[in-house]
Amino acid sequence: NVGLMQEVSLTIPTLLEHAAKNHATTEIVARLQDTSIFRYTYEDLANRSRQATNALRRLGVEYGDVVGTLAWNHHWHMECFYSIPGIGAVCHTVNPRLFEDQIVYIINHAQDKVLMVDQDFVALAENISDKIPTVQQFIILGKKGCVESPTRLGDVLYYDDIIAAESDQIDWPNIDERTASGLCYTSGTTGNPKGVLYSHRSTVLHSMAIAQPDNLSLSALDCVMPAAPLYHAQSWGLPYAACMVGSKFVLPGRHLDGKHLLELIRNEKVTTGCGVPTIWTLVLGYAESNQLDLASLKSLLIGGTALPTNIRNRLREKGVSAVQIWGMTETSPLGTIGRATREVAAMSEQSRDAQLLKQGRLPWGVEMKIVLDDGSIAPHDGISTGDIWVKGPWIAKGYLHGDGGDLLDSNGFFPTGDVGHIDEYGYMKITDRSKDVIKSGGEWISSIDIEDVASNHPAVNMAAVVASYSEKWDERPLLFLTLKQGATLDKKAMLDHLAGKMASWWIPDDVIIITEMPMTATGKIRKLSLREEYWNYFHP
Ligand code: ADP
Repeated sequence: NVGLMQEVSLTIPTLLEHAAKNHATTEIVARLQDTSIFRYTYEDLANRSRQATNALRRLGVEYGDVVGTLAWNHHWHMECFYSIPGIGAVCHTVNPRLFEDQIVYIINHAQDKVLMVDQDFVALAENISDKIPTVQQFIILGKKGCVESPTRLGDVLYYDDIIAAESDQIDWPNIDERTASGLCYTSGTTGNPKGVLYSHRSTVLHSMAIAQPDNLSLSALDCVMPAAPLYHAQSWGLPYAACMVGSKFVLPGRHLDGKHLLELIRNEKVTTGCGVPTIWTLVLGYAESNQLDLASLKSLLIGGTALPTNIRNRLREKGVSAVQIWGMTETSPLGTIGRATREVAAMSEQSRDAQLLKQGRLPWGVEMKIVLDDGSIAPHDGISTGDIWVKGPWIAKGYLHGDGGDLLDSNGFFPTGDVGHIDEYGYMKITDRSKDVIKSGGEWISSIDIEDVASNHPAVNMAAVVASYSEKWDERPLLFLTLKQGATLDKKAMLDHLAGKMASWWIPDDVIIITEMPMTATGKIRKLSLREEYWNYFHP
């Protein structure tokens, strides 16, 4: 017996048209390459995106084609999020900070037909242009004259010029909601990067989910600033949720330093920001040293790596609540979020704080299980630790072109590669990524927990704990630190700081102070490099 309700497809153009009609005058603000500010409205976004769809069609982009982007967070890039899927083509956001070889690999693997190039990445595009044969057309995001004419990109086109010639009206094609809409590669900390292919349906459902009050909490009264790059899990799906709810939207461009971000927060009255902890450390550092407030900010959604206690506390002193989210490219990325339930809200401040530093609870749409070494499912006791598996309508079922093989288990769950536990209140806590786990004498040591305590020391800038080979214990933890400018610290002072705050056998066997942390293209510490370099440290 079929319900008598309309079957309207859940597609990306519906988000754009909704915003154009119902939030037409709400502003979208972007910081441009030269730091100047650009502003327009959702109506402009819709008009220009329709023009861009018409232009791309005229260039021969068809249903099923892949169009790559190499760009920062600005209005041009946001328009790509609508114009490309509107054709039924795939918007492939390429991470420009990867190594050139990886960028080449990704573009060839995805078979990008057209490449949209930021003014900042013209040199990069020129360097790789003869190694990416599927790309038939390069389009520079700007107007002719915005950069020196590139010599190695063939008959390059300029986005602003080609769209100006097009109508801003369109009859969107009927697109099956399961059609692929976006493509993001995981950063490939192990092996080659793998492509995660989002659909219209997964994107719309994910937008509805993140907007909810107990999730990212986005409304028309908010001003949202995604500091997570648009090429990183589509900036957590925010460009799509923004059109759904009609919040003011602020795109910080390439200027991701404390001063420029803080200026945007204060001038545009940003209420909600999203990004990895390192970004907010920069903002906080700048605000603290210049005695500036963050008055408009209500919450910062922090994910990508664990939220350090000291950042949570420093934000609180500025009146900002830090909310942790856990997820991955493969989960669109919302997996869990650290908001309070009634039970947790009623706890003592100390217990509540501890509870909300966990990676959090499941929103509707995500199911999770923890599988122990013996294959059994862990009880929710906050102790039993194992591999995390997830399932839901915005979770990947496999990678592009079948890379990695069949990943789902017989119940349709996806292996996240993260390790953790769930407590009686339903809060999941990540103890490690499976590849970062330290196994000492048969027991697990959580590198994340040690890093959190270490980075609470006032002299410490960043902390990373990795496994190093031990004849006796198999592996022992080794702690790497970078220090704040002008600060000094020795091994003994750090060991004294750690003592009593964790089991004694968790205390790292050595502390190594380095001048620079190796970082990945997504702003995380590249532990693999440290592990490889220092694997034989205890037994040279
Ligand atoms: P990559 O880091 O490989 O570029 P992702 O951005 O998809 O790709 O990273 C997802 C991973 O980041 C997760 O599997 C998890 O290990 C880590 N992660 C994300 N959010 C958190 C969090 N709040 N706490 C701890 N780890 C996190």
